[in-house]
Amino acid sequence: MPTIRFEGQDYFCAEDETLLDSLARHGVMLPSSCKAGSCQTCLTRALKGTPPAAAQQGIKDTMAAQGYFLACMCKPVEDMEIGLASVSPRYAAKVLAKDELNASVMRLRMDCPDGFSYRAGQFINLTRASDDLTRSYSLASVPDDDFLELQIKRVPDGRMSNWLFDEVGVGDEMAFFGPSGDSFYMAGNPERPLLLAGAGTGLAPLYGILRDALATGHSGPIHLFHASLATAGLYLIDELRALAGAHDNLYYTPCVLHGDAPAGGLQGNIVDIPARELGSLSGYGVYLCGDPPIVNALRQKTFLAGASMQDIHSDPFVFAPAP
Ligand SMILES: Cc1cc2nc3c(=O)[nH]c(=O)nc-3n(C[C@H](O)[C@H](O)[C@H](O)COP(=O)(O)OP(=O)(O)OC[C@H]3O[C@@H](n4cnc5c(N)ncnc54)[C@H](O)[C@@H]3O)c2cc1C
Repeated sequence: MPTIRFEGQDYFCAEDETLLDSLARHGVMLPSSCKAGSCQTCLTRALKGTPPAAAQQGIKDTMAAQGYFLACMCKPVEDMEIGLASVSPRYAAKVLAKDELNASVMRLRMDCPDGFSYRAGQFINLTRASDDLTRSYSLASVPDDDFLELQIKRVPDGRMSNWLFDEVGVGDEMAFFGPSGDSFYMAGNPERPLLLAGAGTGLAPLYGILRDALATGHSGPIHLFHASLATAGLYLIDELRALAGAHDNLYYTPCVLHGDAPAGGLQGNIVDIPARELGSLSGYGVYLCGDPPIVNALRQKTFLAGASMQDIHSDPFVFAPAP
């Protein structure tokens, strides 16, 4: 009989019993609804042990890779420890460098604290110690880097972004928790075409995902579209051109809504450009990050162009509610 460890207590699971039913029999009620693997209300995370494949059917590959499974479909075949998805350790990291990437975007690098692990493209939540103000920022680094990299836009009147720009200095200690997010590169299908699209600092997670895919040996075409209102809002143009020059399968297209695009770029609305340029997106792995209206419109357009919803990964940079 497999043992299920949950919040420090062990529970025995009877033969042919689901984890959801087994915990309920012991008086532990996980959230649940349909009990048929479709509503996903009972989504749970394996901290130890491997859930059976049937318990991960219908959830995104990236979620499955992080150990998420459906408790109502899980008949454990080995001992497992399960946890709530929201429990996230806290870390402290020193600021190593701050560099201007353009007039309103900076790169902030911190050291990577012991025990912190992440997938390129996930995000962390930075906390300001004085008042616990917390904001999410995507990781632009890859786990092999010996630093964590954030790309941060200065938002007019923004409390966290202006504090990071004006008051945080090299050597200061930052507090954060995470990582979170299921927008990251999945190995195992190296020949599939990839579409990466976003505006502004939506490039941050895409940059990490892109470098991760290349380092993992992705051989299929990778199309990166990075957009801004005008050329001055783009950044890392030279670095991305150099990366594309070094990898035959990487195509980088800077896009601007107004004015002339940089060489090799396009003028137009990023929402329309990928499907127009690439045609059918059937079979593509799609990553969309940045401003919520752009991400939502791109999600719709890429789906209509043939990408499967299962293969569209997105991280809209939703604003925090006003205080
Ligand atoms: C998953 C996730 C990942 C993120 N990753 C990044 C990242 O990599 N880089 C990055 O720069 N940001 C990122 N963000 C956004 C970030 O978390 C903050 O929302 C942003 O820095 C503004 O915070 P603030 O405290 O400076 O502004 P606030 O004090 O929260 O806002 C001040 C005012 O500006 C408005 N506002 C807030 N954000 C914007 C915006 N982007 N554009 C226009 N108006 C805005 C607010 O509605 C408010 O009126 C991410 C958000 C999420 C949810």
